[in-house]
Amino acid sequence: MALTGLEIFKLLPKTNCKKCGRPTCLAFAMQLAQKKAELKDCPDVSEEAKSKLGEASAPPIKLVTIGTGEKQVKIGEENVLFRHDEKFYNPTGVAITLSDDLDDKAFTERLNKINNLKFTRVGTEIEIDLIALQNNSGDASKFTERAKEVSGSTHLSMILESKSDDSMKAALEICADKKPLIHGANAENWESMANIAKEKNCPLTVSAHTLEDLADLTEKIKGAGVTKIVLNQISENIKEILQGLTKIRRAALKKAFRPLGFPTLTFTPNGDPCQEIANASAFLAKYAGIVVVNACEPWQIMPLLTVRQNIFTDPQKPVQVEPKLYEVGQVDENSPVLFTTNFSLTYYTVEGEVEASRIPAYILAVGTEGTSVLTAYSGDKLNEKVVGKAMTDAKLGEKIKHKKLIIPGLVAVLSAKIQEETKWEVLVGPKEASGLPAYMKTNWH
Ligand code: SF4
Repeated sequence: MALTGLEIFKLLPKTNCKKCGRPTCLAFAMQLAQKKAELKDCPDVSEEAKSKLGEASAPPIKLVTIGTGEKQVKIGEENVLFRHDEKFYNPTGVAITLSDDLDDKAFTERLNKINNLKFTRVGTEIEIDLIALQNNSGDASKFTERAKEVSGSTHLSMILESKSDDSMKAALEICADKKPLIHGANAENWESMANIAKEKNCPLTVSAHTLEDLADLTEKIKGAGVTKIVLNQISENIKEILQGLTKIRRAALKKAFRPLGFPTLTFTPNGDPCQEIANASAFLAKYAGIVVVNACEPWQIMPLLTVRQNIFTDPQKPVQVEPKLYEVGQVDENSPVLFTTNFSLTYYTVEGEVEASRIPAYILAVGTEGTSVLTAYSGDKLNEKVVGKAMTDAKLGEKIKHKKLIIPGLVAVLSAKIQEETKWEVLVGPKEASGLPAYMKTNWH
């Protein structure tokens, strides 16, 4: 169990020297106990105290990395139950299953399909992270052959799923350098799986039906020398899975219960293809480190990745585009000019509708600290002066002949002031971006 603030205090130098940036050693100890400080901030702590305090200063949920290179997946090391308290740091890894008992053609087709599940949303590329290769054939040589094919033709990280240590050993002989997640250890095979994970220096999943059994297994596996552990509570019941994920997160953060202080992996029960994604989205929000789905159609995966993109943004920092003048299509000095704010969602919605109008246009993204049009207007971050300055900075006067500016219908109230400030003719556009194509075709000649 983690140490209390007073227990930590007894191990500190007690000189109140303030080198750690806190007024007293006691204040530092209290913050260390609450995971709000790091032990390295105190330069005078003794080696003996360091080893005793190591556990207290460790993150409540261990960071586990899977794979190598650019697509390495990092899970764990979260500090809060609710993202509005701080933010969630390491996005849930999305994995798609691939069974080794598919025939050659079906296997390669599904592998290629999984590899190509990439989308662009609000200017960011989003894609899945892992392929979960399943040893459903039960055949070690088949599993190895398939692991070789996956390893040689994917940029994604891998999960190797087999209960057989022979299959696992054989597959790892050819892809251990990719540092796949080994899935997995259970009450029967934990010793052999822990030995394999330790030898190959790969992370290991631990599976059990209850949290008590999971905690018991992680202690045994840690004792065997494996520290990169991922928890998997086995269940086909959605409610039970969500309860398990929540209890694990609570036990780690609120009770500092080290045996459950690891990230989690969750399988999504089979069923209706829409329901599968709805369930996976719920697990992603609370609190799966990795969610494994069977779905591999773009219409299923994109919503799941969209949920992840939304959950793992910092709620205190709106996603922004650079405030500047953007060109959509082959613009020239006669092209229409619209403005909106630099809130990503707003900007890309407007950009999409301008593209749909098929009329090349300039979009001036006015800097409003990433807030939407109405929010910026209400907070006085969007007014005639701000718009005028953005137009000057973008040198609109030198680029455009017609001197007409289309403004969002939501801030029609600013039209006279903007006109007076900029000396441009102001045209009030639609209130919703979806009205832009019709508006442009009707009003822009
Ligand atoms: S730096 Fe160390 S000794 Fe100095 S006040 Fe902080 S905790 Fe105490």
